Amino acid sequence: MTDPSAQQVVSELGRRMLADGLTKGTGGNISVKTDDGNVAISPSGMAYDEIEPEDVAIVDVDGTQLEGDRKPSSEFRMHTDVLREREDVGAVVHTHSPYASTFASIGEAVGPSHYLIAFIGDEIPVAPYETYGTAELAEVALDALGEEYNACLLENHGVLATGATAEAAYEVALMVEYCARIHYHALSIGEPSLLDDAEIDTLLERFADYGQTQSADDEGAEPDSGVSVSADRLTELRANRKAVSEFGRKMLHQGLTEGTGGNISSQNGDLVAISPSGMPYDEIETEDVSVVDLNGEHVAGKRDPSSEFRMHTDILREREDVGAVVHNHSPYASAFASLNEPIEASHYLIAFAGDQIPVAPYETYGTAELAEVALDALGEEYNACLLENHGVLAVGDSVEEAFEVALMVEYCARIHYQARNIGEPNLLADAEIDTLLERFADYGQDH
Ligand code: 13P
Ligand code: ZN
Repeated sequence: MTDPSAQQVVSELGRRMLADGLTKGTGGNISVKTDDGNVAISPSGMAYDEIEPEDVAIVDVDGTQLEGDRKPSSEFRMHTDVLREREDVGAVVHTHSPYASTFASIGEAVGPSHYLIAFIGDEIPVAPYETYGTAELAEVALDALGEEYNACLLENHGVLATGATAEAAYEVALMVEYCARIHYHALSIGEPSLLDDAEIDTLLERFADYGQTQSADDEGAEPDSGVSVSADRLTELRANRKAVSEFGRKMLHQGLTEGTGGNISSQNGDLVAISPSGMPYDEIETEDVSVVDLNGEHVAGKRDPSSEFRMHTDILREREDVGAVVHNHSPYASAFASLNEPIEASHYLIAFAGDQIPVAPYETYGTAELAEVALDALGEEYNACLLENHGVLAVGDSVEEAFEVALMVEYCARIHYQARNIGEPNLLADAEIDTLLERFADYGQDH
């Protein structure tokens, strides 16, 4: 018997692919390299929620079945060819995700209008049409991937995503659909601004180090910053760390971000609770939330703080009315960010953010430059801004408030996008925005 864990991973990812809306029916298929160099691959034409690990076939890298009673995926050649030819690839995920498949059906690459495209390369290229399940499809797919792309589209068909591990290939498949969605929305109402090759190279380098450097149970992993935080202070910070963990999950489940994108902070005096970098939101418990000081120095917690810590601490330090910051990649708002266009006042709820939602010009994620342009765009009067080719920044007194602003940004972005799609939105005048700002100050229950 070979490696039951690879079969388990294929069975689990299939369910996830269906639940995340990356495929419909029995479309798509998944393969993972086993420890002994063979391939565990999803069975052909079986409903994902019925695929148990023992239904996952084992084939060799030439596609000959070695184990299992189920017929392997009809696309086994596409999987085995990629796994054989690309030494950096350990897993392949094929989906029919809807926004990416739309580009596949017009035979156009997804352009670099969002920085997360660097998960794939400088664009998402398209392999020309060939019938599903043929050696010809395997060939054009491998060709489109070349040595440098982690994913490609298959014309009139869907998506092929690869990664060193099953988890990485799945994340690439998610990013393909996210980038395709942003590009689709942006193209529907305007002309997206595109990142240049030099910036994609910078991003590829940064992504190589993205995420946690150590696991939480590593000995001595508490930061050695020279700043000591007393046990009492850490107890006081518990509620802040809990809010960061809880609202992270909400952000994911309410569709305000994708994958590990986005981050949240909550200030308590001179200290700040902030999301750990690159951790899946569903796994972030209260004790995984990092603690930094207002200069961004990591002072407590075993996880590395968000790569965007400077953006959070700069705002918390400079804006006295702000006690929490929410950063996300919510899709409608990010489409405006990729158009480099502010969201205008076509809905009265924009007053949660100001008279519009301005855009901070593009800077690489996680840099001091990004923190600077974001702070500039917010100024003293805005509670939210967009980050060009990236996402959203929302602020408030508490995490609850900043989260509400982030929700309103996405809502207003969606209404403005849809209005633009069918006509020319009427915009509210500045005097009315002032009236709204005053009324919002008393909005809701007094007690
Ligand atoms: P972190 O996972 O490091 O918080 O980064 C996510 C992000 O959105 C970067 O802008
Ligand atoms: Zn981000």
